[in-house]
This record gives sequence, C-alpha cells and structure tokens, in this order.
Amino acid sequence: MKRLFLILTAATILVLGNLSQAAERHEIAFPDLPGYKTLKCDLHMHTVFSDGYVWPTVRVDEAWRTGLDAIAISDHIEYQPFKGDVPTKHNRPYELAADRARQMDLLLIKATEITRSTPPGHFNAIFISDANPLDTESFVEAVKQANDQEAFVFWNHQALYGEENGRWQDVHTKLYDNKWLHGMEVCGGKRYYPSAHKWCLEKNLTMMGNSDIHRPDLRKKSSPEDHRTITLVFAKEKTGPALKEALREGRTAVWFKLQIIGRKELLGPLFDQCVMIEKPHLSEKEKVWVKVKNISDLDISLKRTGELGPPLLELPARSTSNLRISTETPDKPLELHYSATNFLIAPGESLDVVLLIPGKKTVAVK
Ligand code: ZN
Repeated sequence: MKRLFLILTAATILVLGNLSQAAERHEIAFPDLPGYKTLKCDLHMHTVFSDGYVWPTVRVDEAWRTGLDAIAISDHIEYQPFKGDVPTKHNRPYELAADRARQMDLLLIKATEITRSTPPGHFNAIFISDANPLDTESFVEAVKQANDQEAFVFWNHQALYGEENGRWQDVHTKLYDNKWLHGMEVCGGKRYYPSAHKWCLEKNLTMMGNSDIHRPDLRKKSSPEDHRTITLVFAKEKTGPALKEALREGRTAVWFKLQIIGRKELLGPLFDQCVMIEKPHLSEKEKVWVKVKNISDLDISLKRTGELGPPLLELPARSTSNLRISTETPDKPLELHYSATNFLIAPGESLDVVLLIPGKKTVAVK
C-alpha cells in the first residue's frame, strides 16, 4: 500500500512537472540561404497593454509553439482601451516578456506602435530603447524620437482604411527623405497591400509581413494552410543586431497565406534552397523519371513557360514528387522552365525559375 502511494506520488510529480513546461515547438520549414539564417519573425502584435487580449508572456509561448524565432510586441502608444484596468506603462510589455523570451531562446525586440488616425496611419518602431519619448503630440516628432534611438520604422497596413486614406502624402515623403522610414507592411494580418508592395520596390523600402494579432493564437503549430502572416528575415545569425542589419538591408520575404512575397534577388535563391532535385532514377525511351523534393512549408505551384515538363506542377510542402518528363534526350541534363506562381516578385508578377535535371549515364535495360 505504501509502495503504491509512493508510485502515485511520483507519477503526480511527473505529470505536474510536465505541465510546467511550455507545449512542444513545431518548426516552420523555410531553408536558410547561402550565408544567411532564415529567421521567422512576427514584428507586430498586441497585448492588454493596448487593445490586445493576452498578457505579454503569452505572446512568447505562442511564438515558441508555432515556430517563430523573433517577435516584437508593439502595443499602441495612443490607444489603450483597457487603461482603467492596465495603467499606461509603454515599456512594460517588453519588460514582462523578456525573461520568458530568454528562457525560450526567442529574440524579443522592444517595440511600440505610433498610432495616428489615417492618414498618416500607424507605424511600428522596433529596436527602440525607451517608448516614453515617443508619447508626444507631434507625429513627425514621435518618428524622429524613434530614429534618435536608432529604431527601425515601418508603415503598417497601409490601405486598411482604403487606398484613398492610405495614399502617400507629403508627411511620408518627409519621413522618407530624412531616412526615418525604413519599411512597409506589404501584408498585415489577412490582407495584402499592392500599393505598399509597389512602393517598397520603387523606394527601396523593406518588405514586411506581420500578424498584428490581438486575440490569443490558439494554433498548436503553423501549417501551410494555417499560419500567421510573418516576415522571413535573412540574417547573418540569430541575434538582435544581425536581425536589425538584415532589416535595414531589406533582406526579407513575406509568408502570406499560400504565397511568398519578396524581391526577385532573394526569392530566386529561396526557391533554389526549397526545391531539391535528384538524379533521375529511371530513364526510358523518350522519358525520364526524377524525384523532386520541396522541403519548405509552402505548397509550390509551377506553370510551364518552356517546352519540357508537365504544363502545371504542384510541389506540396514537405513532400517529394515523382516527375515523368517526356524528352527526346533522356540521358542528357534537362532544363525545365517554369513560373513559380505563388512566389510574387511584384504586384501580379511571379518568379521565373529553372529546374535543372542532372543527366543520367546508365539507361535502363529492358
Ligand atoms: Zn497594430
């Protein structure tokens, strides 16, 4: 009886011990680029310190669980509907979450959202040291204060209240000319902003994509069909300074719904790292069979632009596809030309790619 009691006690301790751990992490699969680590980042989110519905530490646990590497809690300075319950303390969301982030090996970037009626709109200032000086009457002064702290500033959800309200105005030119504006959300939450996309390309601003999440994230993991809008940042290493350097240099892509959005120079290498092509395992008369692996969390959609290969090709996420290619030269290397229709390099424009199939020396004997 005594032994049974001991066993039960031990079992209880084990169970309770497990409960004190965060849920397990499920990685988001996007490969690194040559020379860079691919950091999965959500740099715009809210807590009860503005109009969100969770405590700051919850944001860390959610991010850990769903495979993020870096987050910025960016509570509004000017909008705090729970002020009567949670006093105005602009730096507290970061301070409260910092220990938890260290424990979970997550980069937590100190941030805030400068929130003015649109236009001019909402702007995230990340990598700030103190949010309080940004709590000031003049919008331009608030952005200047952020820049005095060497923040990275981006314009959020540009056309959320319509293109007319989201138009580029003199005040934006002023920020831009002073080099106080560094990026724009091409995607925010569930919306894509083509004007922001165009301006990022024209004005060399960094393309951002974030969740702007207010409610709890109840996902157990991220999946191709169900994930936050995030920014992939191609950084030299997983540190705050390296993340900032990559953002300043514009080395980002946005994972939005079933698409990747970014600059051609980055999406090309990203595609090449996502797709692995083996040597053909079988070549027959006028046919070759080859395995193509997609190691990413994106279902890749391809449309043929050349002569060889199936007209349409789907490479499902984290899967290997077996392709049969008709060719008159089954033993020679082949080049298949496609358009990767869900790799967006400009509004309405997708990335051109080439699948290089290595030649096979030995022919199957019948
Ligand atoms: Zn926001």
